[in-house]
Amino acid sequence: MIVDCHTHIWRAEHWSEEMNREASIARGAPAQIHITEEEHWKAMEPATRAVVFGFRCSHLGLSVPNELVIGYVNQHPEKLIGFAAIDPYEADYLDQMRHCFETLGFRGLKLAPIYQNYHCMDPRMLPVYDYCQSRGIPVLFHQGTTFPRRAPLRYARPVDLEDIALAYPGLRMVIAHMGHPWMDETTVLIRKQPNVYADVSALYYRPWQFYNGLMIAQEYGCLHKLLLGSDYPFTTPGETVQRLRRVNEVTGNSGLPQVSLQAMEELIERDTVSLLNLS
Ligand SMILES: [Zn+2]
Repeated sequence: MIVDCHTHIWRAEHWSEEMNREASIARGAPAQIHITEEEHWKAMEPATRAVVFGFRCSHLGLSVPNELVIGYVNQHPEKLIGFAAIDPYEADYLDQMRHCFETLGFRGLKLAPIYQNYHCMDPRMLPVYDYCQSRGIPVLFHQGTTFPRRAPLRYARPVDLEDIALAYPGLRMVIAHMGHPWMDETTVLIRKQPNVYADVSALYYRPWQFYNGLMIAQEYGCLHKLLLGSDYPFTTPGETVQRLRRVNEVTGNSGLPQVSLQAMEELIERDTVSLLNLS
């Protein structure tokens, strides 16, 4: 079983000019801001299951209708799992959340405080965590850096999620991209908070950081808390699996310690559907 816990879908019209421009500057090439269902579906071929979400971010301007996401998920319910997105700057964000879970059939929630411009313990978010904990809904946080100039780094630190983990101990949380570049913070958090996990999406194209992040997790005995994710369209599950198997290539014949390839196979095959209560 291969579960990709981190994939996006959106259309060009959901991106503001600012986000489009900043993404292109960061990547040195035009960003992939238009994804069709067909393209997404084809890229998911190697995956057994895939989590799909949009984005809701009024601060920078990238707002994807949850209806678009669930419409696609409902075309392939045997494989796709929908995560809703909400933005506390939208006055009806709590109503949107209830609608997503109680009517539309979403299974998890995607939040991105650095993009959305709030601290993860902002009082507006506490009813959200309470609701998700009581219903067994996992929350995937983009809790790490990102490229837009107006995305505040003060809201990005993975360690800030510890207060949520202590206040809502039953809430399952996933830290996207291992909280890059603060993978050490992410590791020490997932090590001691039983319901906090991290995904390895969109890391392999920085091979030294990828190797180091996995090595830190290995040395702290946390590789079992890492989940497979691609961050499609920025990478694909197929390529991510291949790069996990080749993680040690960056060390050449330096004599540096090696990430366990057996553990990488276990990561690739991890049953994230059960771990996050998505079945
Ligand atoms: Zn992402």
